Order: sequence, then C-alpha cells, then structure tokens
Amino acid sequence: MNIIKRKFDTLVIGAGGAGLRAALQLSQADAKVAVVSKVFPTRSHTVAAQGGMNAALGNVTPDNWHWHMYDTVKGSDYLGDQDAIEYMCRAAPKTVIELEHFGVPFSRLNNGSIYQRPFGGQSQDFGGDQAARTCAAADRTGHAMLHSLYQQNIRAKTHFFDEFFAVDLLKNEKGDVLGAIAYDIETSEKIIIEAKTTLIATGGAGQLFRTNTNASINTGDGMAMALRAGIPLQDMEFFQFHPTGIAGKGMLITEGVRGEGGYLVNCEGERFMERYAPHAKDLASRDVVSRAIAIEIRDGRGCGPNKDYVMLKLDHLGSEVIMKRLPGIRDTSMTFLGIDPIEEPIPVFPTAHYTMGGIPTNRFGEVVVPIGTGVEEAIPGLYSAGECACASVHGANRLGGNSLLDIVVFGRAAGNHIIEFLKSHPNHQVLPEESINSALARLNRWENSPEQVNSPEQVNSPEYVDSPEQTNSPETSKNDSGETFTVPQLKAELQLVMETKCGVFRTEDVLAEGVIAVQLIKEKLNSTYITDHSSVFNTARVEALELENLIEIGLATVISALARKESRGAHSRVDYEKRDDESWMKHSLYFMEGNRLSYKPVRTKALTVDTFPPKERIY
Ligand SMILES: Cc1cc2nc3c(=O)[nH]c(=O)nc-3n(C[C@H](O)[C@H](O)[C@H](O)COP(=O)(O)OP(=O)(O)OC[C@H]3O[C@@H](n4cnc5c(N)ncnc54)[C@H](O)[C@@H]3O)c2cc1C
Repeated sequence: MNIIKRKFDTLVIGAGGAGLRAALQLSQADAKVAVVSKVFPTRSHTVAAQGGMNAALGNVTPDNWHWHMYDTVKGSDYLGDQDAIEYMCRAAPKTVIELEHFGVPFSRLNNGSIYQRPFGGQSQDFGGDQAARTCAAADRTGHAMLHSLYQQNIRAKTHFFDEFFAVDLLKNEKGDVLGAIAYDIETSEKIIIEAKTTLIATGGAGQLFRTNTNASINTGDGMAMALRAGIPLQDMEFFQFHPTGIAGKGMLITEGVRGEGGYLVNCEGERFMERYAPHAKDLASRDVVSRAIAIEIRDGRGCGPNKDYVMLKLDHLGSEVIMKRLPGIRDTSMTFLGIDPIEEPIPVFPTAHYTMGGIPTNRFGEVVVPIGTGVEEAIPGLYSAGECACASVHGANRLGGNSLLDIVVFGRAAGNHIIEFLKSHPNHQVLPEESINSALARLNRWENSPEQVNSPEQVNSPEYVDSPEQTNSPETSKNDSGETFTVPQLKAELQLVMETKCGVFRTEDVLAEGVIAVQLIKEKLNSTYITDHSSVFNTARVEALELENLIEIGLATVISALARKESRGAHSRVDYEKRDDESWMKHSLYFMEGNRLSYKPVRTKALTVDTFPPKERIY
C-alpha cells in the first residue's frame, strides 16, 4: 500500500488546550510527539473561551481548594467522581501560576496579583457567601491560554500536522490503539501515524444542536472514533445549555457578565432569578438558570414581539467596567445585534454549549473500559483529555470556569502518565493491515460518487463533469423513495431534531421520537454521496466525515437520555422531575454496537478527604 507512514512516541489528536498542554509536557521530556489538528492550532475552540478558569487562589475573597471541590461536586449534581474532582481542585492554583509563567497575561488587581471574578455555583466555606474564583484575562482568557501554550510547544519542538483530519484509530487484535490515519485537507494525501501511545483531545460536539455557542469544527470526531473502536461513551445524556447565548443566534455572552454584576430580567422588568435561587440569584449553576429562563418564557414572561427571550442587563455596570473587563462581549453584541450593552440590555436564550459526557478516563487520562460487572481496565497506551473525555469532573452539570481548568490539569496529567508508560513500552507494535484498510474504507466511501458506485464509466466521461443536469447537485443523492439530500441538509435536520427532541426539558415520548428520527437520518446518510468531484474542495469531504461522526454522537446522546428516568443536572425529565439517587446515581456507558447501554458506579470516594454525600441542591 502506497501511503506515507510516520512513527512517533505519542500521537496527540487535537491542538486545543488539552492537546497542547499534554504535548508540551511530553516534548519537554524529549518524547517524539505529533499533534494532528484539523484547523491551525490557535483556531481550536479553546481560543473562544471568554470568562476564565477556576482556582482557589483567594486573591479577592477567602478561598480554599476544598470549597472549590465541594462546589464542583454539588454542581455535578453528585454524578462527578470525587477522586478526580479532588485532584483537579487541588492542582488548580499551581496550574494557574504555571500558565502565568508560560506567558498568559492574566488581568490584575491593583496590588498586582491575578484578578478573580465571581462565577456561577461558587461559594465560600461549603455553601456560604459567593466566592470569586475565576482567573481571567479580560473576557478573552482562552485566547491568551491557547496562544501561550502553542508558543511553548513551538519552543519545545513539538511536531505539528496542521490542517490534517484524523479519520480513525488504528488497532491490533488485542484492542491496543497504535495510532491513526489522517488526511491532509489541502492535498488529499493520506498518512498513517504510528504511535506507541495515542491521546484523543478533539474537544466537544456542540454542533449537534442548531443553536449553539461552539465553533463549526466541534463535531465530536474523537468521541466517534472511540465508539467505532468499540469504546463506550460515558454520560452522554448530560449536555449543557448555557443560559446566555444571543437569542436566535447562539453566540456566547459569558457568565462573567453576571459575575461582574449583570442580571437577567423578564418582560415585566423583574429580576426573576431571585425567585428560583434566592441566595445565589443570577449566579446559580447553569442548569438552574437555563431552566428558569425556559420557564419564564413558557409562562408568557419572555421579551420581544414573540416573547421568546429574556434580557441580560449590564448597562448599570458603567462603561469603565464594561470596556475593561468585558470588551469582547461588547464587540459581540454590537457586531451581531447592533446593541451597545453600555446603553441597552442584550436579548438572551439558553444555548447548547458543553458536552459533559465523553470518552471514559481515570484521573491519569487513561481510557478505561468495563471488563466485567463493576470492574474496569485501562486500555494500554490510549489516553483522552479535555472536553471529549469524561474523567468525570463535571458529572451532570459543569460549573463555569471548570473546563479551562480541566483541560490543562488533565492534559498535563495524561502527559506525565504517558512519559512513565513509554519507559516500560519503548517499542512500536506491529500494525495489522486490516486495521488500515477499514479506516481507509471509511475515507474512500466519500471519494466515490453514486455514479462510480453504480456505473464507473459514466463518472470518468467528460460529459459527467460538464453537464450538471445529468447528476444531482453536488453532495446530493437519491434514497429509495427518490428523495435527495445534501450533507448540509442532513446536518441541519440532525441539529433540529436534537434541539427539539433532546433540549433543556425532556420527556419519554419526545425522546423516543428523537431516537427514531436520528436513526432515520443515519439511514439517509447511507445513500448520500459527494457527486461533483471536479468542483468540491476537500472540506466538503471533511464535512461528510464530520456528519457521520455527529450522527453517532447524536444517537449516543438521545439513547442515553431516553434511558435515564430521573432529573439530574442538565438532564431535566418533565416526567421524572426528581433526582433518584437510589436507582440512578451511576454513570451510563453507551456502546455503538447494538446501541447498547450499561452502567457503572460513581467514584464517590475522594483521595484524602471525606466524601461529600448527596444533598438537595439549593442555590
Ligand atoms: C464560546 C465558548 C466560551 C467558553 N468559555 C469558557 C470559559 O470561560 N471557561 C471555561 O472553563 N470553559 C469555557 N468554555 C469551554 C472550554 O473552552 C472548552 O471546553 C475547552 O476549551 C475545550 O478544549 P479542548 O482542548 O478539549 O478542545 P478544543 O479547544 O475544542 O480543541 C479541539 C481540537 O481537536 C482538533 N480536532 C477535532 N477533531 C479532529 C479531527 N478529526 N482531526 C484532527 N483534529 C481534530 C481541533 O482541530 C482542535 O485542535 C467555552 C466554550 C465556548 C464554546
């Protein structure tokens, strides 16, 4: 087979904060590291993170990692694993200082120490007064972090494959992962990257929903690769809807706005969060605020001609605070709405934001799979970190500011574990040809038009290219009933189904309709092709591969949501309103083969401190 092969100690798939932090750890330890990214590294979604990163530095209010841990466990609605949460919260302060030394220009207090803003779900002294725990670089924290991490990687001589699309993992019969096949988006060249260890850090899947805050590249590719490799996805029913996306458009207005003193009002001008969360008000955790907005609108207290959004008011903060602490938000609002928030409130609505579920890992970033009832085992040499992974520190609901923390803490931890693994596994394993063939088959599927499939001579004739009437429009095909689809149409259909059948509030009937609808979309995909190869860019093929991935993630999400008959965190079942710890304090695991679910216990035992037992969540 005539494909370029390259060999590395570690293949990192994804150049967001998680991938870059892991790669840096490895390159600094002289491991030979390849980072593959489908976009130039500094365009990864981490760049868009606004509000900041949590760490109990105590620069503004008294603070303590143990309080941070309590808030995270409570925020997770007791589904988070307490060993991983303890590890993350303890590591947070030194992680921020390390980033500062890498060059992240954090905002400052007058005394020179790092500025910290209050964020949702943060408290002092285990549920007491509001804490200010989020370290920020104005409202462009992710931008500052990603650029610093990229520069450090260049300095450490990490090898980058920029604008390469990872198609599938490569495995041997034992199930060990030995690298991946990637596709050069510019030239169509395929490359086999063989690696002794592989880290999946491909970010979230916000593109599942029509209105979302995510970059168009957030299509859950790594999670789908894991599914195809036989690895289950954990807790996929928990998808976070951020309370304040720009109404109808989805762009994020950071929680930092409410941290700085902004608040939500309904059409009566009422600050309604006082009714839902008397203590924390607008800084209750995200699931609580999103539900409150949805109820206000449902009960006819929405704003605007269609009463379909609420207002985020910040004009009372004054222009100085807005220009200094929230300049990006002002830009976003003026660009997309023509509204200057110094003068007027911003119309907002809950928007799909963050994938709490993902590839199951332990706190070292090792991918773990069940090998019997209640017993799990790490897959040797396979790691995952960042939004695509499920450690699980966010459980059923992530706290704002905890993801930027998660990606650097577990990116670093995975890097360290890989360094140790490489010491005892110095050699590459033999890569079986079958594994390469099946990954290539998936890629080739989108290089063949229906005409090639049905009558190869037709596609080679010049008439085929020159007379469009002979073919369907680009990326179009016919299914059995003669309907035609395009990749973008099918994606839009999937996004609408997910938004309407698996949104903020869920019920049995609607979720069941969702499962059938996504299955139908999957069937339609089978008869969709890219037809006009003379004029499409490789990006059209990449979009087709991404759609395949999204459909698998959509199925995982809606099937897991249908099965969970309780309300916990972001998963709100109208027909099962209460959390049910007796039956459901467990993680779900979705397997692609047979669309099967199994469950595993929550790791409630912390590392050094007492477990926080489940309590009713009141903010
Ligand atoms: C608008 C917005 C604001 C946010 N603000 C905050 C905040 O203030 N605080 C906070 O804690 N969290 C915030 N979050 C969440 C947080 O930013 C993300 O969860 C986090 O940055 C994800 O990092 P990551 O490294 O896991 O993935 P990403 O940064 O998404 O990077 C994924 C990488 O994988 C690569 N990739 C994906 N698929 C493939 C493939 N098939 N082949 C090759 N490469 C691939 C991409 O090219 C990219 O390099 C925000 C999220 C959004 C969307």
